[in-house]
Amino acid sequence: MNQGFETLAIHAGQEADPHTGAVVPPIYAVSTYKQDGVGGLRAGYEYSRSANPTRTALEEALAAVEGGVRGLAFASGLAAEDTLLRTVCKPGDHVVIPDDAYGGTYRLFSRVLQEWGVSFDPVPLGDLDAVRAAVRPDTKAIWVETPTNPLLNVADIAALAAVAHDGGAVLVVDNTFASPYLQQPLSLGADVVVHSTTKYVGGHSDVVGGALVTRSADLGDRLAYHQNAMGAVAGPFDAWLTLRGLKTLGVRMDRHCDNAERVVDLLLSHPKVVQVLYPGLPEHPGHEIAAKQMRRFGGMVSFRVEGGEEAAVEICNRAKLFTLGESLGGVESLIEHPGRMTHASAAGSPLEVPADLVRLSVGIETVDDLLADLTEALG
Ligand SMILES: *Cc1c(COP(=O)(O)O)cnc(C)c1O
Repeated sequence: MNQGFETLAIHAGQEADPHTGAVVPPIYAVSTYKQDGVGGLRAGYEYSRSANPTRTALEEALAAVEGGVRGLAFASGLAAEDTLLRTVCKPGDHVVIPDDAYGGTYRLFSRVLQEWGVSFDPVPLGDLDAVRAAVRPDTKAIWVETPTNPLLNVADIAALAAVAHDGGAVLVVDNTFASPYLQQPLSLGADVVVHSTTKYVGGHSDVVGGALVTRSADLGDRLAYHQNAMGAVAGPFDAWLTLRGLKTLGVRMDRHCDNAERVVDLLLSHPKVVQVLYPGLPEHPGHEIAAKQMRRFGGMVSFRVEGGEEAAVEICNRAKLFTLGESLGGVESLIEHPGRMTHASAAGSPLEVPADLVRLSVGIETVDDLLADLTEALG
């Protein structure tokens, strides 16, 4: 029988240590491994850039919870993205990206990869005809985020997988916002899942990391080769913290969703709020697709306020329990002004965000305290 999500998160890749019985994989703070005669590796370990047992445990657990065959852990989400893109693209190739991609992803394309001859087109992924039209003979990947940051737009993963495969491209899904608990892109036809494990997977705002999970062993092998050749691996301490976070992902996500739903109700009834962006709302343009491909609608909520940029900034400054800060997905609630903070670098680009927008990462504190703080901040 297939095991459930929480069982995999707690046990996959994490058998008790054969020597000591330690229930949790130890932090193997080690760079090299004694060989039994030249080339006689004891458990396949040779040098910790190539593989380290703590990282292996995390990689196996990540593959299991995403329903993939191969997981790879990196020093950050962007390190994972860079490794993936330099594996599937070479100079002269092209990638279709969301017109509201994560700012760091956009910067990787526009400021780094473009210089190396990889071109890209930002396209609204909700418009399948526009995506089809943007795919060229040299398109190697369609890059998907759903829901997106910070506008929480939703893209149809299964439909986009068909478009990518028709065009001979791979479908990449950045699953950071949903987490594998809420959405499993590989089962919908995606070829690779990308994570910033810094966010929900780690979940405690105490470690930066990234991951790739593949549906095929072949792509997994190519990525593993590049992971070692390029070297942006997760260290053993970081891998251990991330694995510790992953164990509770399911229960945390359910509470993030419960609290987000209550926050959405409060915002909807507040006179200063002109629009609430949350895929769980029936009026959200991506609601039906989200309902089809997600278990629940997540812990991220964005909203637009009366009074424009000044009012939005004021609310961010007045909040107390919602900590003013970038990042997301931790147990603690965060508030931010995307226009001046996470998405400041997108000003003047196709990815510029509305100035009256506030983004919340709803944490798992006592919900009444969160509602009181928001009410106070809204004034
Ligand atoms: C944070 C984030 C990234 C980048 O990950 P890092 O761990 O910060 O390098 C990529 N995609 C999304 C959606 C993110 O939120």
